[in-house]
Parts: sequence; structure tokens; C-alpha cells
Amino acid sequence: MTPERDDTTFRFGELGEGRISGALSILLGACSVVAVLCFHFPEYLTTPELRALYSVEVLRALLFAAMLLAALLGALSIFLSRSRRMGITGIGLALLAQWMGGAHVEVDAFDDPLVGFGLDWLVLSLLGTSFIFVFIERVWPHDPSQLTLRREWKLDLVYFAFNHLMVSVVLLVTTAFSEGLFGWAVNDSLQAWIRAQPVWLQFVEVLFVADLTQYWAHRWMHEDPRLWKFHAVHHCPAQMDWLSGSRMHFAEVLFVRSAVITPIYLLGFAENAVNAYVVWVSFQAVWIHSNTRTNIGALEYVLATPHFHHWHHAADPEAIDKNYAAHLPLLDRLFGTSLDLGARDRWPTVYGVVGKPLPEGFLAQHWYPFVATKRQEAE
Ligand SMILES: [Zn+2]
Ligand SMILES: [Zn+2]
Repeated sequence: MTPERDDTTFRFGELGEGRISGALSILLGACSVVAVLCFHFPEYLTTPELRALYSVEVLRALLFAAMLLAALLGALSIFLSRSRRMGITGIGLALLAQWMGGAHVEVDAFDDPLVGFGLDWLVLSLLGTSFIFVFIERVWPHDPSQLTLRREWKLDLVYFAFNHLMVSVVLLVTTAFSEGLFGWAVNDSLQAWIRAQPVWLQFVEVLFVADLTQYWAHRWMHEDPRLWKFHAVHHCPAQMDWLSGSRMHFAEVLFVRSAVITPIYLLGFAENAVNAYVVWVSFQAVWIHSNTRTNIGALEYVLATPHFHHWHHAADPEAIDKNYAAHLPLLDRLFGTSLDLGARDRWPTVYGVVGKPLPEGFLAQHWYPFVATKRQEAE
């Protein structure tokens, strides 16, 4: 299928038309406005776990740089482009951020409410992930004809934003699940023995334990027809890229993260090993969905790659219910769900769910599992 082009889509090479500078100007301008809001209302809009990691002064400098760059790129876009709309929007957003107080908003001491929105997490993650992965997808593309702003990118951006904004709800639910339901099973001497191992070994163990849990939770969602309706949301994108992997029903996010975190909590791995795992999973989860073919040689047998996970999303008959692992393909070989391709350079011909397509739109897709089950019971 050839994606439709409209005036918001562009290819990476169209620098001469002012589209990339315009899009970057809007992205940086919008992130600047959001960042100033975070400085005004840190108790409701920022994440306590993240605040502990970064320096406010570095963030002020970054915010100033983003506003300046938004204005400069906006000016470049106005100079290059015939429509000027994108450049003017980017400069307008940078000016709005400056008018709201810019990089100089004072932050007073505050107490954390029970639940807030992870707006800081959203901005930092969106900037970091989009810059890294748009670059990777343009330099080493799997399908060079696929647009960066492909069909349904806005829907996936809504998923990306929602799942990041809700980070404190996710942490609250996963902690309540693991500590509340399984706290009785903590064994101090087992945890001390595990923490006495080298951190690199603990990291490998976390990866294995997390993926083993993820494998069975994931497989259960494929094999149980009721759970499949929730997981079908993740499988419905017809094009794969770094953003499409964000499409996940919020109930699935809570279910899978609660399941994965529980054995890690019970085994009591060292904080460094768990943090390294969190960084690793943040990269690999985006990478395996992205529109890229990176040749990592024999490592492909050890690590889940875009090639491996694209086949999990394939609608080709031979690929249904195969390649469940998120990190280690070894698990699929162990449990008999590995897809034997024969040729390593073969890629899926079509992605998405087989049969009746899901409704379009964030709310409709969140409502879909409940409606679809009712409809099925009535039949
Ligand atoms: Zn799946
Ligand atoms: Zn996926």
C-alpha cells in the first residue's frame, strides 16, 4: 500500500523545502512550552524518580538552547519554505515559552501528591528517542520508501504521550501488585546471595528473568481470546517504526509491567543492575519495532532485533503466534515458538491483525476489548 502524502508528511531528504527545519522548530517549541509548565507546576507535572537524577541548572540551560534553536530553525524554515506556516508556528511556540517565564521560572519547595503526570519524562523521552531513532531509520532503513510521518503517526504519538504521562500510575500499580500481593515471599538470605554476585551477571539475570515472565504473559495474551483483544491493539499498526511500538492498551501496560517487575522485586537484584536493565529495555523496546535493518551478525541469535520482532507483527500465515521474546530469542527456541525463516534476509510482506480490522482512534481502541467481547457473547 502506498501511504498518502499530505502537507504534513515529508522525507528526510527534503531539507531544501524547509519541512525538516519547520518540523524540528515546532517539536522544540512545543517541548519548550511544556518544559516551562513543568517549572511552574513541578509537583503535578514532573516525576519524583526522574527529578532525583537530573540537575535543574542543566535543564534550564537545555530549555534555553531548545527555545533558541526553535526560533533559529523556524527562521530557516520561513526562509526556505513557500508556506511559512511551520516556521511561524515554531517561532510562536518559542516566544510563548519565553513569555511564560522561559528558563528563569523560580521553583519553590513542594510536597509530592500521590499521583502526578510525567510531563518531564514525556519531553525528555520524546526528544531523545525521536532524534536517535529517526536518524537510525534514515541511515539504515529497512523500507526506505516509508515516510517518517507515516499514516497513523499522530495516533501512535498519542499512545506514546499517554503511556509516558501516566508513569506515576504505572509505578503505583506495579508496586502495589508486586509488594502488596507478593511481599510475603521475600527471602532475605536469597536476596543477599543474589546481590553478592557481580553487577554484570545480575544484569544478565534480570534480562533473563524479565523476558521469561514477559514471554509467558505475552503468549497468554495471544492464546486467550479475551486477553488477545487487549493485545490486538499492539498488533494493529500496518506499518512498523520506532513510534508504532508505543501502541499498547493501557491495561496491557499495567498487566505486563506488574508481571515483569514481580520476580525482579522478589529476587532483590542490586539497584545498578535493575537501572541498567531499565535503560536497556527502553532502547531495545523501541529498536525492535523501528523501520531499520541493522546487521549485528551472529548476535542476532542472542538478541531480539527489528528483524526478529517485525516477524512477530507479521500477518503472513507462517508467522502467527511466533517470536514472543522481547530480549532473548533463545526463549522461543526453548519453548518451540521460534519462526524458522530459512533465509535471514526475508522480511514480512504485511503487518497487522488478521481478519476484521480494529477501530481507529485512541479511545475506540481502548474500548474495543470490552465491546468486542460483549459482541462475541451475544452472537
Ligand atoms: Zn504479540
Ligand atoms: Zn511489538
